[in-house]
Amino acid sequence: MSFDVHVHPWTRDFMKKNGPIMKACDFFNLDVDKLPASTAQILDEMEAAGVARGVILGQDTSSTRNPAFRNYTLRNDEVAGIAAKSKDRLIPFAGVDPNAGPLAVKELKRAVKGLGMRGLKIHSSANSVYINDRALMFPIYEYCEEVGIPALLHTGTTGLGDTEIRYSKPELVDEVCAAFPDLKLVMAHFGWPWPEVTLAIALRRPNVFIDISGWAPRYIPQSVITYLNGPLQDRFLFGTDYPMLRHKDWMDDFEANLKHKLKPGVSEKLLSGNAKRLLDQG
Ligand SMILES: [Zn+2]
Repeated sequence: MSFDVHVHPWTRDFMKKNGPIMKACDFFNLDVDKLPASTAQILDEMEAAGVARGVILGQDTSSTRNPAFRNYTLRNDEVAGIAAKSKDRLIPFAGVDPNAGPLAVKELKRAVKGLGMRGLKIHSSANSVYINDRALMFPIYEYCEEVGIPALLHTGTTGLGDTEIRYSKPELVDEVCAAFPDLKLVMAHFGWPWPEVTLAIALRRPNVFIDISGWAPRYIPQSVITYLNGPLQDRFLFGTDYPMLRHKDWMDDFEANLKHKLKPGVSEKLLSGNAKRLLDQG
């Protein structure tokens, strides 16, 4: 059974309030009328596609100056609440706004200790803060490393409008790994259009994982598939980026276009084994 590490608990109504997300819908060519009507739909769609578990991601831009992100925050209480109703099928990762300074770490602590959230998600381009910002990001990483939770970082370009890519360049992750050698980091979307940079960092940094979310399997570049089949087969994670890609569509595409290209055992690692290791679930 598979484990999707990149799920946004977004509904159609929430998405419509956010200009940057509506631009992402254009980017992904989505029919807005078919977006999820409720967060309860996530479990139904996973079930129908044989996806047993998923990580749902919080997001916080409440201290971010970019006015386009005014309505973008999903409170950690809300995300933890959705997970609590799922009988442990959904695992909540907290969102914090690095622009809040020390209050961001305080909120993360509350999310982990008080709400039982199991990881962190940051989209640096949404927050306009560099992945390697020593003042704003490093105290957050320090806390993650201390309590042993993974940090999932958006890397590479983004479908979200009203953003700049420069904050999320994958090369910035190497400096974070050097400073926090025990921190488990996920580089989301393999850092495209710099997949080779992402692969190079993962090769030299043993705690780096790579998620393939946001990509229909048929479009995943050959260089990524080569490393997925080779030296990085224990580091790749299945993710959809739901609701930008839906579980059934992703799985059908995987069966038709990628599964047969993978060496024996690689498919199981990608779809669930590596995610269990990321979350220390054996
Ligand atoms: Zn995403």
